[in-house]
Amino acid sequence: MSQLGALTRALAGQRVLLVTDPGLVAAGHAGRIRAILLEAGLEVVLFDQVRENPTTGCVDRCLEVARDGRVDLVIGLGGGSAMDTAKGCNLLLTNGGRIQDYWGVGKATRPMLPFIAIPTTAGTGSECQSSALIADEQTHQKMACLDPKAAARVALLDPALTISQPSAVTAHTGIDALTHSVETAVTKKRNPLSRMFSHEAFRLLVPALPRVLENPGDLEARGQMLLGAAYAGLAIENSMLGAAHAAANPLTAHFNIVHGEAVGIMLPAVVRFNAQDPASRLAYAELASTPEIACVSEGIEYAVEALCARLEALLNLAGIARSLANLGADPNLVPTLAEEAARQWTANFNPRTVGAPDFSGLYERAFERRGDGDAGNGSPGAV
Ligand SMILES: [Zn+2]
Repeated sequence: MSQLGALTRALAGQRVLLVTDPGLVAAGHAGRIRAILLEAGLEVVLFDQVRENPTTGCVDRCLEVARDGRVDLVIGLGGGSAMDTAKGCNLLLTNGGRIQDYWGVGKATRPMLPFIAIPTTAGTGSECQSSALIADEQTHQKMACLDPKAAARVALLDPALTISQPSAVTAHTGIDALTHSVETAVTKKRNPLSRMFSHEAFRLLVPALPRVLENPGDLEARGQMLLGAAYAGLAIENSMLGAAHAAANPLTAHFNIVHGEAVGIMLPAVVRFNAQDPASRLAYAELASTPEIACVSEGIEYAVEALCARLEALLNLAGIARSLANLGADPNLVPTLAEEAARQWTANFNPRTVGAPDFSGLYERAFERRGDGDAGNGSPGAV
């Protein structure tokens, strides 16, 4: 963090817009960042009203502060919502118009202000992505605005910033990052570059997650989580996501299940579904061999079962519900959920084609009680 002043200067920043949320102000993190910037002789304009799942209205309020402050560099401090708000504000500040104009890919025509991302959770990987997810204030439609110009020039990963978060946040964001590393490893768009990031993310996250859950002050493991989440973000940037994310969104919309829990609860069923495709089965087996959960030479089926067992063990360790039934989800809504999941953008990138009937099957699996898994020695265990 001590490098922040020099990094900001190197990007020719003088008047910095610091985008964050009230919780991070209360925790003292925003004040510390502000002090570092002031110490470096920079001016700081603060926007501390970031809300979860930011809307066009949130971005407009941030934009007003940015305009009044005549800022020339943007810093996002927080989780995915702070990054999304900062990117959305930067888009409008430099390119004009409204967020709806940037819904889609590469809609910005003019250069944007340099952006520094400082994540305080190890989860979304938004600090390494060029997309901003903003909801329409009126219609509640979530708009993904992807533009390479929106990506951070610098992602500053400081594990000390992640220590103060509540344990449920550590668990849910950690499972989200883990799910990103698994889903990106098999998507239709996977390629050698995304594979490298997926594998490295998985290798870091699998051993680090139990450590941060057991000992939240373990700074080394926190660092591994943060780096793993960032690499998983780079994997998404290069290969998109799959059916676990497509199935999770309707669960969040209907039953208010938090994102990390929703993707986690769907993941084992999705892995088993995709593993019926030989190329995906091999990709999962290779992923499992990265942190030595199993070795491909022991047999591909064995490796995939060992992977599923370890995922289930990690989900249980993180306190993710064993069944959708435990989260108040209504089984009668499965056909509706399945229709909605099939229409999600991320469903297109799943390695196996997934239609509504497939999603129905995946939800039904997630209503069954999950096994105990095996957190230990790499044998497949009960699955
Ligand atoms: Zn996610």
